[in-house]
Amino acid sequence: MDSDEKRAIINKIGMFIPGKNKWLEYNAKMEECFDDHPVDLEQRKELCIASLGAKTVKILKGIVKPQKIQDLDYTTIVDKLEEYFYPTPNRQYYLTKFMLRKQLRDESFFKFVWHLRQLLHQCRLSNEEAHKNLKEQLITNTTGIVKLMLESELQKEKTVPTLSKVFCKGLEIDDRFVHGIRKSRRNKKKLRKSKEKKCFRCNQPLTTHENITCPFDWAQCESCEMPGHLLTACKYQKTKCNKCRVIGHVAKICKGQKGIKVFPGQNDDPASASETEHSVRINDLSDIERLTRLILD
Ligand SMILES: [Zn+2]
Ligand SMILES: [Zn+2]
Ligand SMILES: [Zn+2]
Repeated sequence: MDSDEKRAIINKIGMFIPGKNKWLEYNAKMEECFDDHPVDLEQRKELCIASLGAKTVKILKGIVKPQKIQDLDYTTIVDKLEEYFYPTPNRQYYLTKFMLRKQLRDESFFKFVWHLRQLLHQCRLSNEEAHKNLKEQLITNTTGIVKLMLESELQKEKTVPTLSKVFCKGLEIDDRFVHGIRKSRRNKKKLRKSKEKKCFRCNQPLTTHENITCPFDWAQCESCEMPGHLLTACKYQKTKCNKCRVIGHVAKICKGQKGIKVFPGQNDDPASASETEHSVRINDLSDIERLTRLILD
């Protein structure tokens, strides 16, 4: 990276003015600028310090004394400033962090959901609000191929997606395109044969959970309508319905007529697909304000 490129990034980030700018928003913008370029951690640090402005650098020097700023890494600098500007994290703080949180490069959908759940927990919203916000964030703030695939997959559906649907699609895409690429055909065969223990909620190998609780307990199964697990983990997903004879759900929740097959998810009227434009954009700050009002009321 030459000095012109560096200058361009610094200009794009802009200077941080304490009291005028909000640190969390500023840092999110900074990360976004980094993500557009191949910037390693050492360069991030350099660009961050160059962008901050004299006033903030002075503050930072004061915080980390007797250490020198140059001896810190990028993550520490960001953490220290965050602690300084948000000494008592409250719901507002966590909500802002939640809204600004984007899926990181190399972060699996599973981990992304888990991190969002951690932040949501601190926001103490009602269950209904929390589920709604999680769904919207997952559609908006996934990145790269997962975002593209998720949006196009969800747009194929006739109805507004449920949170469980977003969970299922996200995991499926992750499996197929992100991690799938690294799996050779032989490995896949081996994986299928091995009796690897799977999570009863999300059907992912338990090894991927790494001792963290499964973040998909908010799902409601589309096969049996029981809460707490995804369709992919349902023992009824291969059951033939006694009423309509279609495989994939139980008669108790059947919406078809006796003897008449229904094919859930099949779009019989392509013209109406455009009416179900559901991509939710809650990225801009006005939505953070809306949510702030919600928790303050
Ligand atoms: Zn799980
Ligand atoms: Zn089920
Ligand atoms: Zn049925």
